[in-house]
Amino acid sequence: MIYLDHAATTAVHPEVIREMEPYFGELYANPSGVYEFSEDAKEILQRVRQRIADSIGAESNEIYFTSGGTESDNWALVGAAEGMRNRGRHIITSCIEHHAILRACEYLETRGYDITYLPVDAEGRVSIEELERAIRPDTILISIMFANNEVGTVQPIQEIGAIAERNGILFHTDAVQAYLHEKIDVGKMGIGMLSASSHKFQGPKGVGFLYVRSGIDLPSFLHGGSQERGRRAGTENVAGIVGMGKAVAVGEREYQKNHEKMLSLREYLLHRLETEIPFCKINGSRKDRLDGNVNVSFRFLEGESLIILLDMEGICVSGGSACAASEHTVSHVLQGIGLPPEFSRGTIRISLGAENTIEEMEYVADKIKELVGNLREFSEEYLELQEKGFV
Ligand code: PLP
Repeated sequence: MIYLDHAATTAVHPEVIREMEPYFGELYANPSGVYEFSEDAKEILQRVRQRIADSIGAESNEIYFTSGGTESDNWALVGAAEGMRNRGRHIITSCIEHHAILRACEYLETRGYDITYLPVDAEGRVSIEELERAIRPDTILISIMFANNEVGTVQPIQEIGAIAERNGILFHTDAVQAYLHEKIDVGKMGIGMLSASSHKFQGPKGVGFLYVRSGIDLPSFLHGGSQERGRRAGTENVAGIVGMGKAVAVGEREYQKNHEKMLSLREYLLHRLETEIPFCKINGSRKDRLDGNVNVSFRFLEGESLIILLDMEGICVSGGSACAASEHTVSHVLQGIGLPPEFSRGTIRISLGAENTIEEMEYVADKIKELVGNLREFSEEYLELQEKGFV
């Protein structure tokens, strides 16, 4: 199998598995216990909190463990909206956010909030001017993702943060795809809240964190015990948090090596697809792009058919985000960038990981070329062009 869907999830790193193991066995204590046995769990949670804080230039008491990206996003949006409802009810986001943000916004709309969905340009970037124009006296929150999960475009986060700061508006960013892949400094970037999810960076599933700048009064989302300084109730997922902490350590240690490798694999694949397959379009920004993202559209075929044929060859890619894949609708992100339907229909997302190799890229490029050719044999439009000598 050649796994090329790392934006959906990643394999847990072997060092992470080793680090987690004792916490399923002999170190099973509840960190809230008052006895000696709980001390290790308490201490390790604090160490992970500190490590995560250091990785984004935050303080450890600004990190809250959650069950992952969806919870962090929902908490940030719904919590901030509720907490500031007396100040205003207007929120700005973008039209290409993950559904964890968009569905939370839809929920808030039913509760009387007004949401502005900023458009993006053809590369998937929000316009700073549009953002400035959208700000109103009752705007309480700006939530713009750090990097897009489908087309890989990295947003001008520092500029967005500066605008938010200048206008005294809280800025949240969904960094689920960007954390440990892009350099993040919450202070420099004016970020007030940041969501991340462990399974996107070789940690376990079902665990993540929300950074909340100190001084922000974010109401609790889950009510119950006094865990997470009374702001996020529920017995901590100790093994998961330990695993996430190790994944952060491994990710930071390997950052440079992985960054260079993935970049060269990505460029190799992009180049081959672009130069060897006619009627092919690379989506997203070439410059401001996640290292591992290759989002590409082929005219005269259905992306789903290509995905199935690639799967039969043992190659895992996706058609958009994993959540969008089951919905069989044209991706809102591809609509957002204004991709014409004849291209969006034939789109696949390839997302690379550190363990991928150049030999795999060679094989995958060959296979895609072959399968695209085969599928186009079923397109009358394509055959007509061929007959007329255009291809
Ligand atoms: N935000 C983005 C940008 C994502 O890509 C994802 C998952 O694909 C999520 C949020 C949701 O994260 P989780 O799977 O941890 O709930």
